Amino acid sequence: MNSLNFPKIAGLLTSGIDHPNHVSLNIYLPYCNFNCRQCHNYKIARGEFEEVSYEQLLWELENNFIVDMVIITGGEPTIHGEKLLNLTKLIKEKRKDLILRVDSNGSKPEVVKLVSSYVDGFAIDIKAPPFKKEKYEFTIRTNFNVDALLESIKVAAELPYTIFRTVKYPWLTESDLKEIKDFVKTYGKGKPHYVNPFVEVVEESEN
Ligand code: SF4
Repeated sequence: MNSLNFPKIAGLLTSGIDHPNHVSLNIYLPYCNFNCRQCHNYKIARGEFEEVSYEQLLWELENNFIVDMVIITGGEPTIHGEKLLNLTKLIKEKRKDLILRVDSNGSKPEVVKLVSSYVDGFAIDIKAPPFKKEKYEFTIRTNFNVDALLESIKVAAELPYTIFRTVKYPWLTESDLKEIKDFVKTYGKGKPHYVNPFVEVVEESEN
């Protein structure tokens, strides 16, 4: 394999907490097109990471039989486009038995569509009420396109392992949370929506 055709890997982790009732091998891809307040993976999102080799990933895929799922996360995996597609194909080729999920902020529906035949689900983050552009942009600190999110959700909601996630950021009101829940009910085709507690991130540079 030519590693130039694949995204760089910023981390690998076996985890029992990232998808309900499953143990996953998490693959962290670097860089992100959002700049969210309180990002838990801010170093990876900004491209501060030590690269993990594809030999290590292949070793995990060949030897890690604790996991029943692979989660490609980040960062924002969809910014890697065709390279993400190549990674999803590689995982399915090596371990057909594993459920494959891709995490996304929903900003690149064309890539969600591109990889959708190779994955079993997406975790789409809904970071604020999608029809409140100002609040969404306050959270992600960049431009927000609700049509792109809706298009991503349309594709993702068709897959069996798709979930939606929201962090209960302190700046979201109860009415914001209700709007988000109603939004997922309307567009999410009955897929689960998890509202996770807020855990403060103190960035290293601020210490
Ligand atoms: S989309 Fe995710 S990885 Fe990107 S900045 Fe926001 S929280 Fe961090």
